Amino acid sequence: MEAAKRPPERARGEADAAGNAAVPAAHTEPDDAALVATAQALVGEYALIKPKLTAAAVASALVSGSGHVYTGVNLDLACGIGFCAEHSAVAEMLKARETHVTRIVAVDDKRIVPPCGRCRELLVQLDRRNIDCIVLLPGPARTTLRALLPKAWLEHLFVSE
Ligand SMILES: [Zn+2]
Repeated sequence: MEAAKRPPERARGEADAAGNAAVPAAHTEPDDAALVATAQALVGEYALIKPKLTAAAVASALVSGSGHVYTGVNLDLACGIGFCAEHSAVAEMLKARETHVTRIVAVDDKRIVPPCGRCRELLVQLDRRNIDCIVLLPGPARTTLRALLPKAWLEHLFVSE
């Protein structure tokens, strides 16, 4: 089996030849409370063209393998259009050509929100190391993605790579 194609590794702080965003320079990782606070600062649901079509009711913050924090907000539109906050945080991370998530949280205006099944799959399919990602839960509590997604259906592919 051909190994999965991965974005080329780049030194921190350097853009690639195509001008893609540089991997941010290393810095001190936030603790769990600071990561939650980063996500909470982005929550502020607002209506779009109709009151029931909203953005930013949920926000997410994640720590990547480089120690950088990426954030995102959800989008909830008609006809099932939209995405979870974790998806947009992941998209922000991908712009820096990173795929490894070490810790993640999502929050609404009141509490920490566990990731939905689709987000759990998103993280696992992005990078096999993400199966050991720390997921912050209400309580507060923390667990691993492996505990939230036992017997992941693609896990057999991890072993054969
Ligand atoms: Zn989700």
